[in-house]
Amino acid sequence: MTYNIIITKKKIKNLILKVKADGQILLSVPYATPKDYIESFIKSKENWIDESLKKIKKFSPKQVDKSYKNGDNIEYLGKMYILKIFQNKKNQVQLVENYIYIQTNRESDEKNIKNLLYYWYREQASTIFFNSLKKYSQIIGEDFNELKIRKMKNRWGSCRYLKKVITLNLELIKKPLECIDYVSLHEVAHLKYPHHKKEFWNFIHIYMPDWKLRKERLEKNE
Ligand SMILES: [Zn+2]
Repeated sequence: MTYNIIITKKKIKNLILKVKADGQILLSVPYATPKDYIESFIKSKENWIDESLKKIKKFSPKQVDKSYKNGDNIEYLGKMYILKIFQNKKNQVQLVENYIYIQTNRESDEKNIKNLLYYWYREQASTIFFNSLKKYSQIIGEDFNELKIRKMKNRWGSCRYLKKVITLNLELIKKPLECIDYVSLHEVAHLKYPHHKKEFWNFIHIYMPDWKLRKERLEKNE
């Protein structure tokens, strides 16, 4: 496998290899490093580079610049709904059977539709994410202090275990509940095990024997 690596010579002592969130590979090398040394260094890091690139792919939720027009598909809890927009004096978003109905007085303003949907997603997420976290925090007996919901580029959730603050990615609201549950358990479990060592995964397995399937489903990004 060959990579497109940006090599920069710097006043440093050791070689520093980084894979950035956008997939760019950067290598900083001390000035006098021989070329074949750089090559063998890169070769020795191939697996690590592969793994890092895979991770980036896994954790970046699909970012599509979609339109928000009548008849568009809208993702919610792992299902597709059809967007129906109606003219009305007040703004309202409702889920009815296979449809997401949006009522608004600016029905042709895509940005307005996008905003209404965003706030609706947030509203749903705050209840659904909270309930999911609460469920697993009670099961494992670890309390959290706060749930934050944000749009995040390269992860589904995070846990600041000392402050017991859990952040979940708003994009999760588009995923099936079983995937949301997996991320909830994963993050509350970090309150007990603030790492990804074997004992952490063993712990997850006790409460969610099919966690791998859920994780894969989430990462497949379908
Ligand atoms: Zn983790």
